Amino acid sequence: MRNKDKIDLYEGDITSLNVDVIINAANNSLLGGGGVDGAIHRMAGPELLKECRTLGGCATGEAKITRGYNLKARYVIHTVGPVWRGGGNMENERLTNCYKHCFELIRQYNLKSAAFPAISTGVYGFPKSLAAKIAIQETRQALDANSKLKKVILTCFNPESKKAYEEALS
Ligand code: ADP
Repeated sequence: MRNKDKIDLYEGDITSLNVDVIINAANNSLLGGGGVDGAIHRMAGPELLKECRTLGGCATGEAKITRGYNLKARYVIHTVGPVWRGGGNMENERLTNCYKHCFELIRQYNLKSAAFPAISTGVYGFPKSLAAKIAIQETRQALDANSKLKKVILTCFNPESKKAYEEALS
């Protein structure tokens, strides 16, 4: 299978997906928030928050893994994207690091399928087209480096995200 065929775009709620791991766009506390973070915690149930409390938070650009509890996904990787502050504050590097650290955990845990939200592009305000380029670039690199990874789903929760991914893919 060509790596190109291992990347899917999915329009909808990431919490419904039956994959080995879903990625959460969390905040530094890892103690829950709005957006995709809130949706993941609601679907996973209170045990997820309990495990997150043991992790001591997460730095921007880093990632931590937990079980998935009531989700179909076996695991959740919680990563903290940068808040967009105009582009001169290492935002690109930090978002790139989020993807790199997620894919590193995916490799360590021998996971075969993963679904990502458009990290940082909600309340954190990262431009969607730039974020999509970074997501696609890092996904392609990870697929080249890890032959055990067979499927990466990029979820588009709004039409702008979908357009941004389609443009970045072409
Ligand atoms: P951030 O703080 O990193 O910006 P948000 O949760 O505000 O995180 O948004 C990140 C992206 O996730 C946005 O594109 C948002 O539309 C999308 N999103 C929100 N809820 C869901 C969901 N249930 N499934 C998939 N994507 C979602």
